[in-house]
Amino acid sequence: MTIFAKCAQYTLAHETEALGRYPYFWPIEEATTTEAKIDGEWKVMVGSNNYLGLTHHPKVLEAARQALSRYGSGSTGSRLLNGTLDLHYELEGRLARFFRKEAALVFTTGYQAGVGAIAQLVQRGEHMFLDKLDHASLVDGARLSNGEMHRYPHGDLASLDSQLGRIPREANKLIVSDGVFSMEGTIVDLPGLVAVARKHGAQTLIDEAHAIGVLGPDGAGTASHFGMLDDVDLILATFSKSLASVGGVVAGPAEVIHWLRHFSRALIFTAAMPPSSVAGALAALEVMQSEPERRERLWANTATVAEGLRAMGFDIGASQTPVIPVLIGNFDSVLRAWRSLFDDGVFSHPIVPPAVSMSACRIRVSMSAEHTPEQIERVLTAFERVAKMLGSEPAVL
Ligand code: PMP
Repeated sequence: MTIFAKCAQYTLAHETEALGRYPYFWPIEEATTTEAKIDGEWKVMVGSNNYLGLTHHPKVLEAARQALSRYGSGSTGSRLLNGTLDLHYELEGRLARFFRKEAALVFTTGYQAGVGAIAQLVQRGEHMFLDKLDHASLVDGARLSNGEMHRYPHGDLASLDSQLGRIPREANKLIVSDGVFSMEGTIVDLPGLVAVARKHGAQTLIDEAHAIGVLGPDGAGTASHFGMLDDVDLILATFSKSLASVGGVVAGPAEVIHWLRHFSRALIFTAAMPPSSVAGALAALEVMQSEPERRERLWANTATVAEGLRAMGFDIGASQTPVIPVLIGNFDSVLRAWRSLFDDGVFSHPIVPPAVSMSACRIRVSMSAEHTPEQIERVLTAFERVAKMLGSEPAVL
């Protein structure tokens, strides 16, 4: 046996491939805002988080092009050293104002923003409390931190309350939660969570990855949706979804951001967000604010698809957002469903363990403001076929 033995023992991917049902790493050959050419065929994309459909917006593309010409193709270094551009500061300033915080810090990805903020902020002898369904980046940040991690069952604020009650009042505590849960499409009970935090003297960090551009009158996310921007201590967001780029941000009190800027390892020991991505995110932020009708279209498309799926008898859980989980059942069924959708020209994602439990496998559909009525019709027709197929074919895996 060598350290590599376990790798050879992992055969599930090969087995699904042999059945023609391997759903991952398909190369996209060309893309529009809502369609992707895969294996020579155009498919309607319901697997991206392009909520506002800004990836191909002329202003976003032009800003990225100009940054390429002005600064070059890469940042070639850390934010701390040669990697910071005037554009990074401009983006940080705009995001701080957008989230009504004193300051903001831009990381190279959303994942790194989560890891970099939590791992650095929560130190030995301090505590962090994470919802069981929090995103992996938050959990990984907590694992890298020297503080003590506590998990509470999803959405169970009574359990959070009692866990906090067992920690000495004077101990430092941070509550960390997704704003919109990425596998469920549900919104955190922020008023409840903040009330528990206040009771125990804890601070709060909310990950707005799937909420920015989607929730709140101005698209500023869950906290804005509840009118509670001033009640949340730290706001985390990514640029890889509504902002049509890549990168992440943490916004909060000036002294916290200053501390992270100088000590966060996920910021310092990696290259800065590249120029074209920063410029693209800045332009997308502007378009998001100047074209609020995109958010209306996003919600209208979401309602059409959610209602259509429910009418066919699909269980879409308690989804309240453009993230729509279509519960299918076991591993075998969800892969068959995925393949049927794929063959019908719809690109989606099967969500399987460890992201969810074995019996709760699902197809995740994410809507965009730019999906057309014809594309939506195609998606719903493809799901109709899935419903029929699941009723008639026996399981294989
Ligand atoms: N937080 C949440 C809730 C997410 O869903 C994601 C991306 N799936 C991230 C953080 C990480 O963001 P990024 O992909 O931009 O690194």
